[in-house]
Amino acid sequence: MSFESLAVAGRECGACTACCVELAIVTDDMVKMEGVACRHCQADGGCAIYAARPQLCREYFCGWRCIPALDDAWRPDLSGVMILHEPPVPGYDAPLAISLVVLGGPEVVESDRFAMLVAGFIDRGTPTHLNLPGKAGFWSHKQLLNEDLAPAIRARELARVKALIWGFYAHLRSRPPVAKTEAQVVQAWPAEGGAPA
Ligand code: SF4
Ligand code: SF4
Repeated sequence: MSFESLAVAGRECGACTACCVELAIVTDDMVKMEGVACRHCQADGGCAIYAARPQLCREYFCGWRCIPALDDAWRPDLSGVMILHEPPVPGYDAPLAISLVVLGGPEVVESDRFAMLVAGFIDRGTPTHLNLPGKAGFWSHKQLLNEDLAPAIRARELARVKALIWGFYAHLRSRPPVAKTEAQVVQAWPAEGGAPA
C-alpha cells in the first residue's frame, strides 16, 4: 500500500531510519527481515542510497509523515514511537487502524504525551494498538486499546488513561516471545505485526 498521497508536504525523515530497521522489505533486489537494520542505513542516520532507494521505500510513509497534527518531536527516532498504518479492524467505522510501536523504553509509555496521543486517536474512532516489537525472528505483541480506554478518555481522566496504558504495556512485556516459522520471518511490507493468538 502506498501512503504517498497522505504525506504531509515539507515533512522529511531527516536522520530517522526507524522503518528501515523495524519493517521487513521484500523486493526483487532486496530482502530484509523485520527488526534488522537495512544494510543501507548510515551510522549517522539516513539512507546511503537515498536517490536510488527501492520503490517500496519511496512509497512508504509512517504515521508521523502523514498526520499533520503531530509535531516534529513525534519523529520516531526522537519520540521512541513509530506510528504504523494497519488494515481496518472489523466493527470500527475507520478506513485504517494504527499501531503505536514502542521503540523506546518505559518512560515513553508512561508519559502524559503518549497518553494524549493514544486518547486523540481513540477519541477520533481510530482502532489503536499498543505494539511491542519482538526481536528479529519473533512476533511483536500488540493489544487493541479502544474499548478498554474509551470510558476514561470520554471522562477526560488522564491518570486513569495512563494507568490503563501502563497495565497493557506491562502485560505485553510479560508475554513470552513467540518465534516465527521460517515462512513467516520475512513478511510483506509494512509489517502487520502481532503474535498469533
Ligand atoms: S519511520 Fe517515518 S520518519 Fe522514520 S524513516 Fe521511516 S518514514 Fe521516515
Ligand atoms: S534502502 Fe534506504 S530507505 Fe530503503 S530501507 Fe534501506 S536504508 Fe531505508
